[in-house]
Amino acid sequence: MDLAALTLAELREQLRTRAASPLEALDAVERRIAAVDPHIHGYLHRDLEQARALAATADVTLPLGGIPIAIKDVLNVRGQPCTCASKILEGYIAPYDATAIAQLRAAGAIPYGRTNMDEFAMGSSTENSSVRVTANPWDLSRIPGGSSGGSAAVVAAGEAYAALGSDTGGSIRQPAALCGCVGLKPTYGRVSRFGLVAFASSLDQIGPFTKTVRDSALILNAISGRDPQDSTSVAEPVPDFTATLDRDLKGIRLGMPREYFIDGIDPQVDSAVRKAIRHYESLGAEIVEVSLPHTDYAVAVYYILATAEASANLARFDGVRYGHRAANPVNLLDHYGRTREEGFGPEVKRRIILGTYVLSSGYYDAYYLRAQKVRTLIRQDFTRAFEQVDAIVCPTTPEPAFKAGERTGDPLKMYLADIFTIAANLAGNPGISIPCGFAEIEGVQLPVGLQLIGKPFDEAGLLNIAHAYEQSTEWRLRRPALPA
Ligand code: GLN
Repeated sequence: MDLAALTLAELREQLRTRAASPLEALDAVERRIAAVDPHIHGYLHRDLEQARALAATADVTLPLGGIPIAIKDVLNVRGQPCTCASKILEGYIAPYDATAIAQLRAAGAIPYGRTNMDEFAMGSSTENSSVRVTANPWDLSRIPGGSSGGSAAVVAAGEAYAALGSDTGGSIRQPAALCGCVGLKPTYGRVSRFGLVAFASSLDQIGPFTKTVRDSALILNAISGRDPQDSTSVAEPVPDFTATLDRDLKGIRLGMPREYFIDGIDPQVDSAVRKAIRHYESLGAEIVEVSLPHTDYAVAVYYILATAEASANLARFDGVRYGHRAANPVNLLDHYGRTREEGFGPEVKRRIILGTYVLSSGYYDAYYLRAQKVRTLIRQDFTRAFEQVDAIVCPTTPEPAFKAGERTGDPLKMYLADIFTIAANLAGNPGISIPCGFAEIEGVQLPVGLQLIGKPFDEAGLLNIAHAYEQSTEWRLRRPALPA
């Protein structure tokens, strides 16, 4: 049996019954990486020796005992590099574990490998990585989505049983959709952000990439909960998210937001999503049309607020405390200026400049403050819609994966890749993307994602709805054919 092909739940069973050992599970994944990562380029770094030491002593009776999990290069894992795929953090070694990592370790998991991403999680294709371009496992000439493209690609390519990513405007759901895996953004506050390098603190959430919805529930079980080190984490009870997966959908109401079925969406994506919605009806769910009237403003609001927060958060990279430092500065200003000039890539600079601009005196009221007000309207749209429905169902992305290089010259076009995911971050609601079919483009099959958005802190309901669809369809069984 090839252990690397198993889901996390299946592997867990193998380890618990001692049919396989954690060392074998790790070696299977490492063999798969050696075979396919030269095509995918999903990993930035791995420490096999350290992981083997952990595997040798792993306690397989723990919930994730002995299971290696890949980590987006934006989360601090003690003793490992954490570069956010940026030159400015070259050489930085994390001195502590992020809370989500400490929780994974407490559940017995082994953080194994750092995955590629857009620099500081800014992007939708992973092409903003200062290190390398990651390929989409279904078509190596296409992008895996972003910003957590490495995490999505390694899970889809069978190079990881599961991975963690972060989602500020879609960076878990969008690459999961484009790579054909499951990506969950929990409710804002469900998972501690302590040790996640901050991009936009009021939007960032950590979440899992997995092969199945059940696996996603298993990881969420481990990483959820109030953390005194993150004052925005919430003391909501953490249920066992796997316990309610198998409930039937009778009486469940799903909302189809009028504003998410628009011109410009790829016809094959549109038809796959509509088919999925009809499938939900056959499972007993009732479909209701809902309206999220402020949807049109979401992208604009996001790019004001996210850049404003980023400009403040990234001020800490000054060449004094972490990573890269410019050589031979003539004075302090020259030291800051050249360190940041050399260390940050073009997209990060663009965001810092934009964010500084919208926060500057004279413009603050016109842009930042106004965007905050519209954010409230967007949040109210969701509150109203959820008076009628249990979850919202829509596409995750307007199109399947595009070709590498196709949009790098046009940032605005790139920003539109998140048009359907951003509003859930602005409102704080949980969202999940699951595979719902394929689009054939130039003779190649490319995955299509279905997005479900849930009520705040109702991940249990959301996962139940996602699981029912997944288990009654066959999409989860398809794997990309990779050159061996
Ligand atoms: N693509 C969006 C951006 O570039 C979202 C990124 C994210 O979720 N981290 O900001």
